[in-house]
Amino acid sequence: NPAAGKAVRRYRLGVMGGTFDPIHHGHLVAASEVASRFDLDEVVFVPTGVPWQKKGRNVSPGEDRYLMTVIATASNPRFTVSRVDIDRPGDTYTVDTLKDLRAERGADTDFFFITGADALAKILTWRGADELFDLAHFVGVTRPGVELNSPAVAHLPKDKITLMEVPALAISSTAIRERVARGEPAWYLVPDGIVQYMAKVDLYRPGPENLSATR
Ligand code: ATP
Ligand code: MG
Repeated sequence: NPAAGKAVRRYRLGVMGGTFDPIHHGHLVAASEVASRFDLDEVVFVPTGVPWQKKGRNVSPGEDRYLMTVIATASNPRFTVSRVDIDRPGDTYTVDTLKDLRAERGADTDFFFITGADALAKILTWRGADELFDLAHFVGVTRPGVELNSPAVAHLPKDKITLMEVPALAISSTAIRERVARGEPAWYLVPDGIVQYMAKVDLYRPGPENLSATR
């Protein structure tokens, strides 16, 4: 039996959650860097449903954010997109995301949740935070202007978290929405297909119902 004594390699799945309104090269570089460093087989991007932390502004429809995520990841054979969060009614909590993906993927998969250092610092305030560490290893990536060694992170279990520097891309979805609203270019901050999709469905342009989306 050639398989005897050979440890079966467990599948290594990265999970990148986000509002992705719109997805940009910061997200893509972070996912790519973590995939390389942790030898991930796949990174699944999971656009949020109703982003409960962002209730102050109008968030673009889930279907648009989902399609932009598909467009941006289509060329990478290791990148996929999941609908678990946009198809689940109600607010999105990371604990539900991870449970749904675990149920879908089975027990032979190790999970790596990829998140920006800003989001990681808030992890203790997430619902079910204590449970999260049983569901996944957490990878906090740098983003410009956010200190990795924040006091909040120092309290978290060290064996469950890796902090990692990725090439600093001073890109945020907020800045892209503001640029588009001002008629400035978004080329090279997001994949070409995202520039084209934003124009096609008229996302972020100033208009009676879009104005609040940029504030
Ligand atoms: P917004 O400005 O609307 O908050 P965002 O650019 O922060 O958008 P999100 O969808 O909120 O994008 O981010 C999803 C995840 O990606 C978060 O964990 C966030 O910290 C991380 N992230 C966002 N931008 C970068 C970047 N430039 N480099 C590394 N990580 C990033
Ligand atoms: Mg953000």
